[in-house]
Amino acid sequence: MKQKRFILAENELPRQWYNIQADMKNKPLPLLNPATKEPLSAEDLAHIFAAECAKQELDQEHAWIDIPEEVLERYKYYRSTPLVRAYALEEALGTPAHIYFKNESVNPLGSHKVNSAIPQCYYCKQEGVTNVTTETGAGQWGAALSYAAKTFGLECAVYQVKISMQQKPYRSSIMRTFGATVTGSPSMSTRAGKDIITADPNHPGSLGTAISEAVELATTTPNCKYTLGSVMSHVSLHQTIIGLEAEKQMAMAGEYPDMIIACFGGGSNFGGLAFPFMRHTILEGKKTDFIAAEPASCPKLTKGKFEYDFGDTAGYTPLLPMYTLGHTFKPANIHAGGLRYHGAGTIVSQLLKDGYMRGVDIPQLESFDAGMLFARTEGIIPAPESCHAIAATIREALKCKEKGEEKVILFNLSGHGLIDMTAYDSFLNGDLVNYTPEL
Ligand SMILES: *Cc1c(COP(=O)(O)O)cnc(C)c1O
Repeated sequence: MKQKRFILAENELPRQWYNIQADMKNKPLPLLNPATKEPLSAEDLAHIFAAECAKQELDQEHAWIDIPEEVLERYKYYRSTPLVRAYALEEALGTPAHIYFKNESVNPLGSHKVNSAIPQCYYCKQEGVTNVTTETGAGQWGAALSYAAKTFGLECAVYQVKISMQQKPYRSSIMRTFGATVTGSPSMSTRAGKDIITADPNHPGSLGTAISEAVELATTTPNCKYTLGSVMSHVSLHQTIIGLEAEKQMAMAGEYPDMIIACFGGGSNFGGLAFPFMRHTILEGKKTDFIAAEPASCPKLTKGKFEYDFGDTAGYTPLLPMYTLGHTFKPANIHAGGLRYHGAGTIVSQLLKDGYMRGVDIPQLESFDAGMLFARTEGIIPAPESCHAIAATIREALKCKEKGEEKVILFNLSGHGLIDMTAYDSFLNGDLVNYTPEL
């Protein structure tokens, strides 16, 4: 009988995360203070982030970082996640390729984001922090953080983009179920929010307004830290649990991937799956094709420039060396909310520059076509973000069919789409369109 799902026993779970920065030949350039243009120290970053996360952010020395015992305990609630061979999808495509996916949708929150929310809240707790705050758009990160904060007994305040809060009410319900306070941004609860509302009483909110409010709350409240669900290097570090498990699971399947594919917002689920495999490329010269799938409407990897830019629209963050479309770029309102970000993380940007990986851009309709085929073959409704990885996988599997090549493809299913059914409704009703940005 052919095996479909590969799962690790609890005692086989990885006990360390992999820090690719230590093995990179060209290290990522430093983050800069925008006022002085001086490189930021871990101490500078610790004003807003947990001190341990600030340290991990800049660590270019230690390849392996121990996962704290308490974090491992919480990982056990849903890890390992299954590695699955997509036999039905292969058959529908008529491809000789072997398609595997790592299923990160099978956890309490339905996406990979909780893998970093748990350690971030754990370190805050350890350091005597009592409150965490963040911004969220579609709400996946806010939901993961709310759950993790509750787990470690922290108060959690989430600023959610006002318009998303109205469009996606169930994610606010999830956050509130886990005990978080959810505030639509812009709000009257911060100086920044009051200023925005005074200037424009009907402002719909944006990630820029929400970041400003969350950062203000963190910097003006004692014992309160700010957290981020993507882009930063410590977030990708925590996400390497995905690839480290997948490495063991691929060995159980008796194969090694020729191609590794993930969707790309800020780079955390891509890095999380790819970096442990890329280690063998850097250290042993293994040939693997690493593909990051971004939306055609927000193509920073394929059409952005490598330069120093702000991480947020308002210009509050440090300057980051990255591929970017510019921090004032306004992506079209596609349903893959998690991929609507103007820049790429600093590690991934350096790896792209050095030719270790490549980006592909996927139009919105192609992403939903792929999601529909995946749902109808494998029985899982993918998140609109994950549909981009599936579309890129299908492209490659069809190339294998043309050339008669039996390649092994591994992609990350970063989340399920059960709270995004309005997006599927729009697709099924024929209301969705493609967007090509003017750059
Ligand atoms: C947030 C999110 C993404 C994009 O973020 P990355 O940091 O690029 O991984 C992708 N998929 C899902 C389901 C998400 O919630």
